[in-house]
Amino acid sequence: MLPVTTPSPIGELSAENQSAGKQAGNQQANNQLAGNQQAGNQQEGNQQAGNQQEGSYSAGSPHVAATPVIPRARTMAPVFHELTLFHGSMGAGKSTLALQNAYNRRQAGRPGVLLTSMDRAGSGVLSSRLGVMADAIEVINTTDLVTLISAEVPAGGFVIVDEAQFLNVEQVEQLAWAVDELCVDVDCYAIATDFRSQLFPGSRRLFELADHTISLQVEVTCWCGRPGRQNARIEDGRVARFGAQVAVGDISDAASDAVSGAASDAASGAAEVTYRVLCRRHWREGNPGSA
Ligand SMILES: [Zn+2]
Repeated sequence: MLPVTTPSPIGELSAENQSAGKQAGNQQANNQLAGNQQAGNQQEGNQQAGNQQEGSYSAGSPHVAATPVIPRARTMAPVFHELTLFHGSMGAGKSTLALQNAYNRRQAGRPGVLLTSMDRAGSGVLSSRLGVMADAIEVINTTDLVTLISAEVPAGGFVIVDEAQFLNVEQVEQLAWAVDELCVDVDCYAIATDFRSQLFPGSRRLFELADHTISLQVEVTCWCGRPGRQNARIEDGRVARFGAQVAVGDISDAASDAVSGAASDAASGAAEVTYRVLCRRHWREGNPGSA
């Protein structure tokens, strides 16, 4: 690999072209330099090719800093608004990051709203298990997000949606429409898969439509120490395989504590339901550990 600061005939070529006013030649030389940095072992071949094209330039010149060539089209690109999905298992810090990003944008003077569904702390609140919280607009299954965003967020503003796995497909499509037509940025924070390790419909549609999908890298581990991948539902000490995708108390259970949180399942009235992140092996084996 050729360091940028190494004296290079390519640099000399660049300097000569500057004196000769050959701007196009400069760009070509810089492109060659960039190529050489990526594939240093091709340097000799590129130099020879350059010699044949340009005639003369000498080796051993002072180093010339590589000037990145920015395509004209990029410098004049319009501002695009984007739909972004941040996804991770329980405990990956989604709500914490959502709150931080909302705070930063408001500090920067951008208008925007926080949306959530069935947060651990109750309706109309977006909370992190670390204790931070903020007021948010509660989204239910019938909420029209186009109407909501049109009324609440001006062009150039932002929308942050926590617990976005509970959006329905139509609502995700409304968010995509709002990004394109209302010129707002929408960030969704979601668990990708349910206790059966199957995508939530809202999360699936976000994967399909988002401009960017970002997997949160906060470490979440199974009781065995392996990376936690599966958001297991534990009923009476056993890993559940069947049941409603969203059980009563689902979010408050999942979010209050991924390891030991517990709440009664109002539907069954008897079974104790908790949620726990397991590695794939122990989720497959149905071994929830001894927590
Ligand atoms: Zn495990």
